[in-house]
This record gives sequence, C-alpha cells and structure tokens, in this order.
Amino acid sequence: MTPGAWCARRSLTDSGVPARFDKGEFALISMVSSPTNGYFYDGQRTASPADMRFSLIRALGYFVGGLWTGWGGRKRVEASQLRNLRRLVEKARRDSPLFRRLYADLRPSSEIELCDLPVTRKPDLMAEFNDWLTIRSLPLERAREHLRDIENAGVPIDDVAIFQTSGTSGEPAVIVLSSSFVEYYYGIMMARFERYHWRLIRDVRKLGVRVTITGGNGHFAGNGFNKLMQRLNPALASGLGLTFIEAEQPINRLVDRLNAIPNIAWIVTYPSMLNILVREKEAGRLRIEPALFSTGGETLTDDLRARVVRAFPSLKYGIADFYGCTECLALAFTCSHGRKHVNEDWVILEAVDEAMRPVPDGTLSATVLLTVLANEVQPFIRYDLGDCVRFYQDSCPCGSPFRSFQVEGRQATLIRVGEVTLSPLIFDLEHEHAQRVQLVQTGERDFEVRAQLANEAAAGLVFEEVIASVKRVFRDNGLEHVAVRESQKALEFTASGKFHEVLPLRGADTGKMA
Ligand SMILES: [Zn+2]
Repeated sequence: MTPGAWCARRSLTDSGVPARFDKGEFALISMVSSPTNGYFYDGQRTASPADMRFSLIRALGYFVGGLWTGWGGRKRVEASQLRNLRRLVEKARRDSPLFRRLYADLRPSSEIELCDLPVTRKPDLMAEFNDWLTIRSLPLERAREHLRDIENAGVPIDDVAIFQTSGTSGEPAVIVLSSSFVEYYYGIMMARFERYHWRLIRDVRKLGVRVTITGGNGHFAGNGFNKLMQRLNPALASGLGLTFIEAEQPINRLVDRLNAIPNIAWIVTYPSMLNILVREKEAGRLRIEPALFSTGGETLTDDLRARVVRAFPSLKYGIADFYGCTECLALAFTCSHGRKHVNEDWVILEAVDEAMRPVPDGTLSATVLLTVLANEVQPFIRYDLGDCVRFYQDSCPCGSPFRSFQVEGRQATLIRVGEVTLSPLIFDLEHEHAQRVQLVQTGERDFEVRAQLANEAAAGLVFEEVIASVKRVFRDNGLEHVAVRESQKALEFTASGKFHEVLPLRGADTGKMA
C-alpha cells in the first residue's frame, strides 16, 4: 500500500467524510452518467471508420504507467517527465511546421532541456493555427465551421475532438484532442484515485441525480467532454441521471428549475454560480439539499467555501474544487489532504515572474507556463496560461511524489487603476433588492454598476448604495478620482456562461478557461 492510500483511508475513518475529491471522479462520473437524450444515437451521427476511437486497453496503459511512476518517487517522476518532453519536442519538430521553425536552432531533441525552449502564447499560436498542429487535415476554417453548429458539441472531426476556450478577452482558442489524450485523461486520473473517491461515487449515486449548471452556448469542455465520452463509449454511459441547466438564464427561473428537480445529490458548476446559489439558499428561495458541490474554472475562495458549508447543512461531502483548463483537462489532482498536485509525468507547470523566470517555491507567480506532454496533435509547450500559482515548499503529508500548489486567482480578474492593483473580492456587490450586481471597468478611472434587480421599485436605492460602497473601497485604497456611475446595460457573461461580479478593463490578458 502506498503512503497516500494509507492517509486516504485514515482520513476517511477519522471524519467519515472525504475532504475533497478531484477532477478524476468528475471524469469517472462522466463515464457512468447517462445522456439526457438520444442525440448521440441518431442515424446521421453514427461512427464511421475514420471516427475517433477510445481504447480501454490504452487507457489502462496510462493507468498502469501512472501508478508505476508514482511509486518510484521523485527520481522516476522526473525521468518520466524528461522522456515524455523529449518525445513531444521531437514530434513537434517533425510534424508541426510552426515548431520546426521555432526550434530550428536548438540542440537535438534527445538532449533538449525545458529551459532551452521558448515561451509560447495563445495569440501567436492561434495566428498560425494551420502550422501549429501536427496533422494537416484540420485547417482553422474547417474547425471554425464545425464549431459554428452547436449540434456538433462533443462530435469529433475525423479522429480528433475539438473544443473552444471561453476567450474571456480576445479570440477563443480552438483546442484539438486526439483519442490518445482522452485515454490519457481517464488512465491518469484513475491512477491518482484514492479509495475514498470510489466510496464517494458509490454514495452520491445512491442519493440522487447530478445537475450541471454551466454555459450552454458553445463548444466548451464543461459539457462537450461528457458528450464526447458518451459517444466514444456508450457502454460506459449508464447509471447516474444527468441534468443540464444553462447558467445564463435569469436567477429566479434558474431557482425554479432547481426546486422542481427531486433528489439533487450533486451540483457541478463555477464558483461564481455557487456564489449566487448560496445567496438564494440564504434568502430561502432555493430549497435544494445537495450532498456535494464540485467546482472548477474559477478560483474558489475560502470565504465562499465556508459560507456554502453553512448555508447547505445537507452538504455531507463538501465542495470538491478542481483545477484544469481546456488546454489541459487532466492537469492536476486533489489528494486526501486537500492539496492540488500536478500530474508531473505528463504535465509541466512552471511558476514564473513577469520576465518568465522561475520563482522560488512559496512565492506567488506572475503567470504560469503549461506544457502538456500527452497532446501530440496540438503541442502546448511552455504556454503562457496567465494564472497565478504558488507551489508549496514542503512535501504533502499524503506522501505523493508529485509537487503541490495553490491557485491564487487569475490575473484577468484583478482590477488595475494607475499603480494600484485591487482584488475583485474587496468590493461588496450584494444588495438585498438585487439578484446580481456587476462592476465594470470601462476606462482606467471609469467604472459602471449594472444590476439585475429583485425589486424594480428599489432600483434607485440599489444603485445609490452600491455606488457609495464601491467609492468607499477606492478611497480606502488611496484612489480619489475614480468615477462610478449607474448603467442600464444588461449584465455580461463570459462566452461559457460564467458570471463575474467585477470585470476589469479589456485587453490586458490572454483568454482563460471555458
Ligand atoms: Zn497530497
């Protein structure tokens, strides 16, 4: 038995409640959840020989390899990572014209080290999409045409699947995955499973249905990956009920829909939506009693976590928060001690400063560079992801050899006024007569407040009080000349349906997760 497994068992016995779980189960439950309709089985979309195939045997290969690497400690993890990196670099040089040019002057792939490789960024890669991929059969125009039809969500093109990022600012990226990446995803996540994950799945399935609240208007990994899996391996798609609810609808309608579903055991959503659900629950309008929330795509703060646990006494299994992105769905796993660990045999995550130099463990990074070793179709190598992370200095009590880190929020959400940088969390944008309030930065020193009102008659009061409170925050931070005004514009959501209470000025960052 590994030390990790022992800790997991002990932790479960002590509390009876697993602290958290990770994206692995999210994936696993995707495997055992049933489709909401017969969409995948209609005549015109049945599999053809050129279609993507999911091989359980190859997934098992990733699973066994992942276990073997984990058992070997740091030395084996690092050796495995370097081997996979050199293989990917060789593949990229051979089959991606873009990387062939980029790496032309570097030493041979068999001797390459990570620090030899230049940093890559989304706008540059997207501008040369056709040369970026290691396959020549998917020009950007063909990918875009596929993405234009929402009916194609989760439907492969030939032997690859495509998704898009939400493109919080700027153009959404098109993400291409081969079947081997999907096999990697399942194999590696199950390799990192602990016993309590399996027990959790069994228990939650017994309690009721799972509801996903996410953006419904695009090809995002949030629901697209489930659909893809149901298509690739329908034999695994049975068991737990699955209901999908669009995040973009008005809150009262969303609450009515949730209240109408009996036995909601599990809700999968974004932290910003969780923030809304907790308010509705506190106000007595939302009556559901889930046993588990799982969140991803945004930063879940400790404050929100504590508030959710208070408002939902039914939350037997707590909140499972995972970290991933469309560029790399199986980036990390959360262990029984609640830390996020990088799947370092197949993923490299580098915490760096503004000049792209590594920062020491324990220091908050300016951004993070992602290398995805399992995606050979679309190489992401030292790709600037834009997140701020902090690696732990000590090793995790769970005994895992994989390094662990915290996510401190995404750069894109920080507000900059002159030399002052403010966290969106310091603004109090709640009002008893408003369902949602949004603060939008329209110029460096210009802000507007938008609101979805619960009570139209109180509109004047809502704006007056929220504006006063926002101005107070600016004053407290030494910012005197900032204009904050009322706006009648509709609230803005990201393309994938996330609602951000505070929207910084556009154009400073790269797009993030879907
Ligand atoms: Zn751990």
